[in-house]
Amino acid sequence: MPKKKAVKAESLNSPKGMHDILEDQYYDYQGFFEKASDVALYYGFKPIETPILEKEEVYLKSQGEGTDLIDKEMYTLKTKGGHHLAMRPEGTAGVMRAYIEHGMQSLPQPVMFYNYGPYFRHENPQRGRLRELRQFGLEVLGTQKSIADALVIKAFFVILEEAGFKEMRIDINSIGDADCRPGYIKELLVYYRKHTNALCAHCRQRMKTNPLRLLDCKNAKCQTFREDAPAPMSHLCTPCRSHFKEVLEYLEALEIPYTINNHLVRGLDYYTKTVFEIFDTGADPAEKKEVVDEDNENKDEEDSEKTNKKSVPKEKVETPEPLAIAGGGRYDALAKILGSKKEIPSVGGSIGVDRLIMSPKHKKLSPRIKRKPKVYFIQLGFEAKLKSLAIIDILRKAHTPIMQSLSKDSLAAQLGHAEKLGVPYTIIFGQKEAMDGTVLLRNMKNRSQETVKIEKLTDRLKTLK
Ligand SMILES: [Zn+2]
Ligand SMILES: [Zn+2]
Repeated sequence: MPKKKAVKAESLNSPKGMHDILEDQYYDYQGFFEKASDVALYYGFKPIETPILEKEEVYLKSQGEGTDLIDKEMYTLKTKGGHHLAMRPEGTAGVMRAYIEHGMQSLPQPVMFYNYGPYFRHENPQRGRLRELRQFGLEVLGTQKSIADALVIKAFFVILEEAGFKEMRIDINSIGDADCRPGYIKELLVYYRKHTNALCAHCRQRMKTNPLRLLDCKNAKCQTFREDAPAPMSHLCTPCRSHFKEVLEYLEALEIPYTINNHLVRGLDYYTKTVFEIFDTGADPAEKKEVVDEDNENKDEEDSEKTNKKSVPKEKVETPEPLAIAGGGRYDALAKILGSKKEIPSVGGSIGVDRLIMSPKHKKLSPRIKRKPKVYFIQLGFEAKLKSLAIIDILRKAHTPIMQSLSKDSLAAQLGHAEKLGVPYTIIFGQKEAMDGTVLLRNMKNRSQETVKIEKLTDRLKTLK
């Protein structure tokens, strides 16, 4: 125990890349999640919440080797019973695991879920990337129809519009499936082998483990090669090609502006056919945001562990591209990887909520639990204090949002607080009122005051403007 005392207070700050969410920011998150859930419900999605911990294999199998997620970003732990668990780094694999586990194949298809909450990735916290990050996800499981891809994209657009993003662009690509991708990968490798020596160490490794991600490298030198690299699009088999064509037709019908991006492959291994990322294309404030964010990040660096400090400027040079605010794709092969006998064609994605909340374009959405106080409750004397919590519960039952400061004793201090907050009414509950079973109701604007019997209080509150 004495050891604990020696620890300096500052070293007990929250872990790097993980933050407390409080005050207005808490309501920003809550308001967004409520609005997004509301939109998702209208589009036919149902809620699901999967555990934050899953067996490590769920991610090892689904993401495959050679992905950053598996190689270095996953938080894993060994339980006292010797089981290996992982903190969920993303939402899709857990939802698919739940679908298989609960035999949802027997339900009418597709099964549509929305989910949100914290995810964990051990990466360098910067440019809107956190180690505890919050996402809002949509998944449509059990259909290969292209309209499901369009549905997910459209629902994301609607949610982002509600959150204040008026101008957006979607980057979209098709990376084929088990029939056509192997042939494409072969050709991709033939091309990259010619440049092996010029590639970064990471990419040389990717050639062995995850060649598709050669197109995804953030290293400026590697990026020069991708311009001439063969595109997945030109190798699609007929079913993949017509699926992609249909998705684009839906986007056109929905007037969603898209760009076909031949280099878009997404980070995870299990994607098939459609992959997409949504970018905010609105003007100016975004420029400013970058500067503000970086200031905060540097502060975080100073406040926290110093070990990763050096890597920050390097990483900045490597990621000049704008960050996507949402992304996803089709994952027809995931179910079998996770042990399902049948293929379960599915599509989904997620919104990076932290990045969205931090954007200056984000429109604050007030959550249902946030209410403007209508009454300031003032108590005076011990008799009144004793009965105060009972009066507050009467106000709660009458759906009257209140403020109070039960720890204050003086009338002046409490009235002053009420004035400062601009609360329209006060209820004054003193020694006399406590004896009489009444309260004083005071209109703060015109200073008029009336005595109300406690049993009549609910009715009187209903008539307040
Ligand atoms: Zn590279
Ligand atoms: Zn194909």
